[in-house]
Amino acid sequence: MLIKAVYPGSFDPVTNGHLDIIERASRAFDLIVVAVVRNPAKDAMFSIEERMQLLRQVTAHLPNVSVGHFEGLLMDYMHLLSAKIVIKGLRAISDFESEFQMALMNRTLDSSIETMFMMTNSRYSYLSSSLVKEVARLGGSIDELVPVDVAEAVEARLLRAKGETLFLAADHQG
Ligand code: ADP
Repeated sequence: MLIKAVYPGSFDPVTNGHLDIIERASRAFDLIVVAVVRNPAKDAMFSIEERMQLLRQVTAHLPNVSVGHFEGLLMDYMHLLSAKIVIKGLRAISDFESEFQMALMNRTLDSSIETMFMMTNSRYSYLSSSLVKEVARLGGSIDELVPVDVAEAVEARLLRAKGETLFLAADHQG
């Protein structure tokens, strides 16, 4: 039987820390589905489609990795895919509390599904998508933090946002 694992997250955008987990998981399991969660509460830089496209590009070298998306309960998505393993990355103690809660809640919802935690690569233990966006917005280089396609996409998005702001300001002045 092939073991299928789902790696859920916002991936707004995918970072080298995520990619490290995906690459290691792809060696440990037969099939990995990286699942972008639609979370209307979070203020996103990229749409679900754009995040999925970036994930497809940066995992193109991994034949057993595919990309999906879901909204609502992860357990419902797991049933839809007939997957039994959830993969989570752990960066620091600060991740532990909420991940522990979530894993136990998911186990209450379906005890046949197992959450497995993978320790971050120490090189990326400080890395999060929100920090990447913040550094880029402040003009810092994110080249060491994300794959090259992602760095280009973030740059293009910030240029567009800047253009829109200038346009609005000009429009406002009449
Ligand atoms: P964030 O927006 O904080 O980067 P995501 O929701 O996109 O987080 O993260 C998806 C999953 O990847 C979570 O399990 C998270 O703990 C894990 N993760 C995020 N960044 C890293 C990293 N640098 N190293 C290991 N795991 C990570």
